[in-house]
This record gives sequence, structure tokens and C-alpha cells, in this order.
Amino acid sequence: MSINLAFDREHIWHPYTSMLSPLPVYPIVAANGCELELADGRRLIDGTASWWSAVHGYNHPVLNAAVTTQLSKMAHVMFGGITHEPAITLCQQILKMVPANLTKIFLADSGSIAVEVAIKMALQYWQGSAQPTKTKLISLRKGYHGDTFAAMAVCDPLDSMHSMFSGLLPEHYFLPAPDCPFHAPFTPEVMQPLEQLLADKHQQIAALILEPIVQGYGGMRFYHPEYLRRARALCDQYQVLLIADEIATGFGRTGKLFACEHAGIAPDILCLGKALSGGYLTLAATLCTDELARGISLSAAGGLMHGPTFMANPLACAVASASLTLIANGEWQAQVAAIEQQLTEQLAPCQQLATVKAVRVLGAIGVLEMHEKVDVAKLQAAFVERGVWIRPFNNLIYIMPPFVISEAELRQLTQAMVAVCQEVA
Ligand code: PMP
Repeated sequence: MSINLAFDREHIWHPYTSMLSPLPVYPIVAANGCELELADGRRLIDGTASWWSAVHGYNHPVLNAAVTTQLSKMAHVMFGGITHEPAITLCQQILKMVPANLTKIFLADSGSIAVEVAIKMALQYWQGSAQPTKTKLISLRKGYHGDTFAAMAVCDPLDSMHSMFSGLLPEHYFLPAPDCPFHAPFTPEVMQPLEQLLADKHQQIAALILEPIVQGYGGMRFYHPEYLRRARALCDQYQVLLIADEIATGFGRTGKLFACEHAGIAPDILCLGKALSGGYLTLAATLCTDELARGISLSAAGGLMHGPTFMANPLACAVASASLTLIANGEWQAQVAAIEQQLTEQLAPCQQLATVKAVRVLGAIGVLEMHEKVDVAKLQAAFVERGVWIRPFNNLIYIMPPFVISEAELRQLTQAMVAVCQEVA
């Protein structure tokens, strides 16, 4: 099949690229199971689950059927003054999965918007609770929460791809990234900056926002559950809300249904996205408690001030509902455990390479942190040559494959990672 790459290069933005010297793009014409098919017929084993989302693989018969059945009834209808069965069924399923304190759901159209809504909820809650001075957020360095402006304002101010906007964003408080690896003994001193900041400033602070356990795009770092447990306790002590951004970690990726479960805690606000729709359509959700919903309703506006055009899109809700039914059958648990074991064994040899700073595995996430930034275009080409789809960034070569990946497919991915790392070495 011929694809007009020249047009693409001339006119279409791709994520985080320059229009003048864009990185190469690969034309994909089909995707099945854990394979992407290139226009020239080559097949690539997918190590990305399309950025954490396609947990059941591509072209899944159950998910396809959910979309086509819904399509024959209604593709979309506004959500203002209207409701529909796909949204109601989906929200019932979500509530069965999340901690019981989370009872109210806002269906957003992307992860970044779910974070915007979470921040808005926190700010409106304190307005409605007669504490309008609580307007600041606390975030963690190496955190990443999305590309819209309120979300960027809580991304790592120095490290993230948004640093050039720093003077234009609302200013929040940043704590050091948790320096307490998931697999090492916990060191209580790491809580000191949060304790101090809350003791000094809690009257100005609306919420602490964090990615539980896995800091994703800020560095693929896995931190200790005790950090999260103690952060929850400190938020309670100082009347500060806890926002958990589980957009990347939600629905099994870290070996628990939600990463907060590693610490046995529940947030006041929870953001979901990515795997929510099984990677089919753009959908995200922000959940909050009864108490928050009450406070928000008492704020001057009288309601939550958000309502996108494609809110609760029925096609997205229907496929998300089918995806959550697959998640609810529990097979993901054995799949993720097997992926974790295989990644641990097969990535271990990279530890010996001089170019590799660290090898980390948690659930269905495997990370090689390199000492130096990698040449993305060069590595991508080397991976495609080996029949795999892996997209490195900065100094990270990492995979988070679909949960349904076979042992042989995953071996192809890890072998490619080891081989390419050796070449770079
Ligand atoms: N939060 C986290 C933790 C994420 O990983 C992402 C996506 N990379 C987002 C928020 C933003 O989601 P989206 O790209 O759907 O806007």
C-alpha cells in the first residue's frame, strides 16, 4: 500500500516534534493482537500498547463488537441535558472497581482533561467549603500529568518537556522526587520535605497531586508504597486533598488493579484514562467523593464548571465498558505476573552494560535507564529492523506491552532491547 509520507511530513504535526526536521514516522496499515503491520507488509511486535492503552491487544473481537453494536444505535450525542445507557453501565463498572469512597464520576475526553477537571474539583471544593485561601497544589519533581496548561503546571518544572512555559504557568509547590525505590527498604527521611511544606503552608494548599508508585514520563521511576501511605496520612492531618493520577498505572499495569493498592490507600480524587477504553477511543475519567461533590456544589458556581462537547461519547463508553468486562474476568493478574517475571529475567543482562545506568521492572513495565540520552530515530530504526515497536525517549528504553502478549513475542522484545543496548554500548 502506498502512503503519502511526503504530505505527512509537510503538513501534519506528530507528538513533540519539529515541523522543520521531524523525526521519521512509520506507516502502519493494520494492527492485530500484539502486532502492528507496516505498509510494506512487515510486522512489528508492539512493546508500547500504544502508550499504555491497548492492554487487550489490537483488533480484539469483543471490543470491535462493542463499537459496531453501539455505532448502529448512536455514535454520539451531547451529554448536557441527556444521558445514555453506555455511560451509566460504564460508570457502574468503574465504581465496582475503585475504592468505595469514590462515588462521583466525570467522564472526560483525554487524560490531560481528566487532570484539569481534578484540579478544578479541588479548587472549587475549597471555595465551597469556606476555605478560599487553599489555591496551591503540591506536586512531585519528575512528575508528569499531561500537556494542557493546568496539567503542565504540575509537571516537573525543570525536567519536563514543558519547561519553556514555566513563567506563564500558575506557580505551585514542588517536592523532591521520592528517593525511595520500590524494591529497596524504605527510608523515612524522604517524607521530611512534605512534612515541612504541609506544616508551613497547609492553609494555602488545596491538594497534593501525584502518580502513585510509578512516575512515568518524568523518568519511569518506581517508588516505595510507604511513601504513598505516609503522604495520605499527612494529607489527612493537614486537610489537604490527595489527587492520584492513575492514567498510566490504572487497570492492572503495575500488578495491582490500581497502583494505590500497593499502599492500601484511597485518594480523594482519582484520574483514569489510557487503558480505560482498551486503547480504542479517547476517554478518561475523574472520580471524587461525596464530600467533594457536596463542597463543589456549594461553591459560587453551584456546579462543576466543565462540560466538553464529546463528554461521555457513547462509542467510547461502550468500548470502555467491554474493556472493563475483560479486566473484571481477572486474567490480567496472571498475565501481568508472567510478564513481570519474564522481563526481570530477560532484561537482567543489561545491568552489566556500561551504557546502562539501571534496569527496572514492575508489573508489565520494563525500563532500561541509560547514562546518556538516546538517539530516538536511530534506535527506533534499529528496533524496526528487529521486528519490534519500541519508542525510547530521553535516556529511557522501556516497554509496557499489551497484557495478552505471548512468551515468544515478549522474548523478541527483550532480545531486541538487549541487542540494541549492546550496540549502543
Ligand atoms: N497523566 C499521566 C500520568 C500520563 O501518563 C498521561 C499521558 N501520557 C497524562 C496524564 C495525559 O493523558 P493524555 O495524553 O490522554 O492527555
